[in-house]
Amino acid sequence: MKLFKKILAVGLVAAMTLSMAACGSSKSEDKKEEAGNSAGGTITFGTNAEFPPFEYVTASGAIDEFDGIDMAIAKKIAEDNGKTAKINNMEFDSLLLALQNGQVDAVIAGMTITDERKEAVDFSVPYYTATQVMIVREDSDIQKAADMKGKKIVVVQGYTGETCVQDLGYDYEAFKKGSETILELINGKCDAVVIDSATAEKYVADNKGIKIVEDPDTFEAEEYGIAVKKGNTELLNQINDAINKMLSDGTISDISAQYLDMDTSEDASGSDAE
Ligand code: GLN
Repeated sequence: MKLFKKILAVGLVAAMTLSMAACGSSKSEDKKEEAGNSAGGTITFGTNAEFPPFEYVTASGAIDEFDGIDMAIAKKIAEDNGKTAKINNMEFDSLLLALQNGQVDAVIAGMTITDERKEAVDFSVPYYTATQVMIVREDSDIQKAADMKGKKIVVVQGYTGETCVQDLGYDYEAFKKGSETILELINGKCDAVVIDSATAEKYVADNKGIKIVEDPDTFEAEEYGIAVKKGNTELLNQINDAINKMLSDGTISDISAQYLDMDTSEDASGSDAE
């Protein structure tokens, strides 16, 4: 819980001031198309509901069966613009393509703003600051990122954690879901999972025998943003106005605190790792 608060406090201040961070970016797949604006009274958000506490599936969530910090924020953004939020749940790797294809109007998925992604889509102002951390077993001797050298490292495919481990030059195995990486760790099939901080906190709170190791010298701050199709300034402005309002009146801070403190172990997608 301590780390949650720290990240939250740091995040909300830093979100407005920090420039890009993360672990570098590389080539682009720039597909510029004419922007389309959200039709009718809905904003369809793409997400990957495998990322507690930002998005996960539950019995009754903020938007249909989807709950979490991002879902509550998406709902408010839509309401702020007199619209209804809908969720299209898909693989993380498919999200930006779905945006480019017009399948979704916006992507809200704890998505880190990176230079590479910025070549494909436009991002809102940042609304949350996080960092990559390592999750290891409690008896692990890993104390910093360099200690992972030669160990079995697991990441989630397409997450910035994968880029970070690539940048370190270490071998790793990539899985589709965060919950799968935690199972690997608990079952002794890997030594470390590299993943976003708040999600790591959630997994550690929900599973026994694992802990978080931070290495801020190696893993820089990352900022989460909402993505829209390149050139869709109308929707981007609506999203930015809503985010700026929610950052200044404390709504995002309240939403984050609510979900970070919530026991979602029965609801979260990571619960099957227990
Ligand atoms: N922040 C990480 C990224 O952008 C992970 C996001 C996620 O899993 N939803 O790659």
